[in-house]
Amino acid sequence: MILVSVFMDIEDPINPLADPAALDISELFTNLSVRASMCITGEKCRSLMSRNRQDILTSLKSHCIGLHTNTHSQHPSTMELLADVDYETGCRLALDSERKGHDSFVKAFGQSPTFWGGAGNTWSPEINAALSQLQVPAYSYSLIQTPNHRPHRINGILGLPQAYSIGEDQWADDQIADQRSNQVLKAIQSATTPWLGIFVGHPTRFRHDAFWDSGYFGGKTAEPLPFANVVDEKVYMRSLINLRSFLVKLKSVAKIVGVDELLELKWNERRPSDEEIQFFRSETPKALAGAAKWPIHRPDLDPANIIQKTLNLENTLLIAEPE
Ligand SMILES: [Zn+2]
Repeated sequence: MILVSVFMDIEDPINPLADPAALDISELFTNLSVRASMCITGEKCRSLMSRNRQDILTSLKSHCIGLHTNTHSQHPSTMELLADVDYETGCRLALDSERKGHDSFVKAFGQSPTFWGGAGNTWSPEINAALSQLQVPAYSYSLIQTPNHRPHRINGILGLPQAYSIGEDQWADDQIADQRSNQVLKAIQSATTPWLGIFVGHPTRFRHDAFWDSGYFGGKTAEPLPFANVVDEKVYMRSLINLRSFLVKLKSVAKIVGVDELLELKWNERRPSDEEIQFFRSETPKALAGAAKWPIHRPDLDPANIIQKTLNLENTLLIAEPE
């Protein structure tokens, strides 16, 4: 049976109902005995601690938990921080930034993050050097492109790409949720790779009609940051039911593992074939350029230097497969 990991992002420190939504969805996974892989920001760790939400921290800790950057959409984002600096300077900046998130994560959970996941999927290769220093062995939402979404190792860190995603607006509509769930389940059943990553959304966006970070759009910081509108209770419940029924069906066609369980398997690693190298060279720049278009970024963000720094690591690239 194919292995899959199911990812969610927990990052909204602003909207009051983001906290109970994170708890609801963490418990939804727990009640189904599905181990989720949750990406949590350093900022969210600090806000949950300051609000004394030990109940939420404890529930999240029963799943596999990773660091979702220190401050997510606050400027500068990972790409804004690293776009215009040389690799060595970038390594120092990335370590400074992510060490803060790592330390808050350890304070909140009493354990180190199992993996790291880019905010808005953004990334720059200096992150992997910082993760080595922080002894975080893997990262999700990898933008390194290999055929069929294969896991890979680049500069020593295991990269786990996101093969499929089902969004909150899709969960909120019964018909669309059903269609999209069936599409993804079908694709998983016909996949030829041993593992796939699936993203199923942000608890806060199940509860609100917009992303929490609209105050950071376009490189700006609104003062004060706006709250998002709460969706109707019925819509929220419907979304949870649709997520739940997807997970039930997913369990019947795949073995769902947390990233921590995945890392414990024996991995085979090999040099990429010529075809895989060609794919990496042609597709990775497009994925990085796409990530640079994240709406919170300053409009003049140029990903060219990040692309070049990434391509410079080609000789460290390995294709990795769990046995
Ligand atoms: Zn996020």
